[in-house]
Amino acid sequence: MGQITLKQITKNFGDVQVIPPLDLRIDDGEFVVFVGPSGCGKSTLLRLIAGLEDVTSGAITIDDRDATEVPPAKRGLAMVFQSYALYPHMSVRKNIAFPLRMAGLDKAAQNAKVDAAAKVLNLTDYLDRRPGQLSGGQRQRVAIGRAIVREPDAFLFDEPLSNLDAALRVNMRLEISELHQTLKTTMIYVTHDQVEAMTMADKIVVLQAGVIEQVGSPLELYHTPRNKFVAGFIGSPK
Ligand code: ADP
Ligand code: MG
Repeated sequence: MGQITLKQITKNFGDVQVIPPLDLRIDDGEFVVFVGPSGCGKSTLLRLIAGLEDVTSGAITIDDRDATEVPPAKRGLAMVFQSYALYPHMSVRKNIAFPLRMAGLDKAAQNAKVDAAAKVLNLTDYLDRRPGQLSGGQRQRVAIGRAIVREPDAFLFDEPLSNLDAALRVNMRLEISELHQTLKTTMIYVTHDQVEAMTMADKIVVLQAGVIEQVGSPLELYHTPRNKFVAGFIGSPK
């Protein structure tokens, strides 16, 4: 399961409301992309869903449970950051196994899950290396591996490819899309890159200053943008 509903949620930082009342429904198994310019509130929205920030008002429901009553670690969500957040002194195997070790799984069970994730991510030959001995793309795969072993109900990606060069970004975009096809798990993917949004999403959520300008499939947004902002941002001819 991985159905997420945001009902009239708002977020203030001090006196500033960065998310005015917002409604959104994400269906189980969907690949949803939040796209919009820097500072429009994409990361804040993701952090609210993950429970890394509290909503100022409104409700978040994850699979019919009120998320405010579920601590972040129990929400069944796994977040992948732009900065990878790997442990430099640990091997790739230990990095990927980290959440399993924290959960108290025995070594054999840890290794089985790490091996399976490594296979999906083409990391089998790199499990004994340290993050410093890997390319940027491989490091991001390790970060994704660490999310996969938790078998989350939804993956939350915050601009995971921003630190990679253009050619590698295209590769990783395909890999993440393939991963979604394999796992069929809900994915929420934040980016300021229109091409990523158009090529990866089942559903795109276009944000500007904390407000949803439009929600729709890439084709819908392209052919029937609701306003000039969406048209300009998505690059449609309207
Ligand atoms: P995006 O990820 O789309 O670039 P963010 O969600 O990071 O945007 O930020 C949205 C707005 O909220 C920005 O104006 C940002 O300055 C502000 N903001 C984000 N986090 C904080 C914080 N912890 N304290 C104060 N303001 C914040
Ligand atoms: Mg951000």
